[in-house]
Amino acid sequence: MGGFFGTVSKAQCVTDLFYGTDYNSHLGTRRGGMATYDAEKKQFTRSIHNLESTYFRTKFEDELNKFVGNSGIGIISDTDAQPIIINSHLGRFAIVTVAKIQNMDELEAELLSRNMHFAELSSGKTNQTELVALLIIQGKTFVEGIENVYNRIKGSCSMLLLTEDGIIAARDKWGRTPIVIGRKEGAYAASSESSSFPNLDYEIHSYLGPGEIVRLCADGVEQLRKPNEQMQVCSFLWVYYGFPTSCYEDRNVEEVRFLSGLKMGQTDTSEVDCACGIPDSGVGMALGYAEGKGVPYHRAIAKYTPTWPRSFTPSRQELRNLVAKMKLIPNRSMLQGKRLLFCDDSIVRGTQLRDNVKVLYECGAREVHIRIACPPLIYACPFIGFTASRSNLELITRRIIKELEGDENKNLEKYARTGSPEYEKLVDIIRQRFGLNSLKFNTLETLVESIGLPKCKLCTHCFDGTGCF
Ligand code: SF4
Repeated sequence: MGGFFGTVSKAQCVTDLFYGTDYNSHLGTRRGGMATYDAEKKQFTRSIHNLESTYFRTKFEDELNKFVGNSGIGIISDTDAQPIIINSHLGRFAIVTVAKIQNMDELEAELLSRNMHFAELSSGKTNQTELVALLIIQGKTFVEGIENVYNRIKGSCSMLLLTEDGIIAARDKWGRTPIVIGRKEGAYAASSESSSFPNLDYEIHSYLGPGEIVRLCADGVEQLRKPNEQMQVCSFLWVYYGFPTSCYEDRNVEEVRFLSGLKMGQTDTSEVDCACGIPDSGVGMALGYAEGKGVPYHRAIAKYTPTWPRSFTPSRQELRNLVAKMKLIPNRSMLQGKRLLFCDDSIVRGTQLRDNVKVLYECGAREVHIRIACPPLIYACPFIGFTASRSNLELITRRIIKELEGDENKNLEKYARTGSPEYEKLVDIIRQRFGLNSLKFNTLETLVESIGLPKCKLCTHCFDGTGCF
């Protein structure tokens, strides 16, 4: 998905920019970039590094001195190299995007046919952030240009533009990815994750609405475009992507995870000795489950935090499996002879969960029950580049549906409906394949209730196939 951070300050901004961008590191794995604008020298400074083998801070801390200026933007990107710097009739600007553009080929062909060119290639392909910049400069103003992006792209795109006159923050027209505005004395910031604010002394000022565009200056926020009425914010943000202390639409990630576990624990009839969470995103749900069920919470698997960040970091599947195995360490003392209930955020391919369950039995678990925070993932995400489900057949559900129906696209609505015979069969096959005593997924209703927004405001496409395209 990717995450960004931008700040405009009355003082030098580089420290806030560096740490603020770093606090988005859990959202992307491929490229990191920063750009600042020095108003005195009228000069942009930019740097981009590959993050596939190391952390953002490690790559950037040696060159912080070169970033001068009171305003800057930074990105942790899952896709292309960013920021892109453009000189145009709108003025000079740097741009970062959190985007997934499905109709890249069509837009690229159209721009080329109009004698435009692309200067930045990303792994041999057109850089989608540069394409967004070219769409912007078709407008007579920044707002008109950003609306051109809203109207032309299929997928999603939120962006920050570092201009010679402050930072323009524009949220995706459906609001699928968030932008939170922070404020402190003498500075404003915009971030994908509000968890980047507290340690830098920012307070949440506002949540941009879908399609809303604002300009941030050191002493205020000016609205340039009103938000759209309709919203489709990604519900998976609260389940999987989000950092526990982050809020989107004023709903905190950890609270949502806790509530989803609490509701499940209150109604679950399985007899278990304790609830445990698969780190990190299963922990909040497990704490809620333990309270709802009235059983203790035990930390039976711990994550080796000093060196392992996130689960699907490498692009190669075998390497991802290795990372998934190496970073979680089972605690035999807490596992032996127990009837364990483990909570996890989701099941995508199933490889990681299968390996975790195998380890639990090897460590002497008597029973293993799994509870999942969301409904089964039936549809791949076409909107935000949810890295782990690029195609339908990567999903364990679709592979099983293919086995059962001979076609992975058949009867999907039935498999997606909690309680239908097809749904029950699908869940039971997954349970058997993992050797579990029981397996339950949260219902979509419980997930939506836990998030606390009306369903019509949420994108739930990967669970039920609905959504606005
Ligand atoms: S399809 Fe799923 S992951 Fe993609 S935006 Fe919608 S809810 Fe989020």
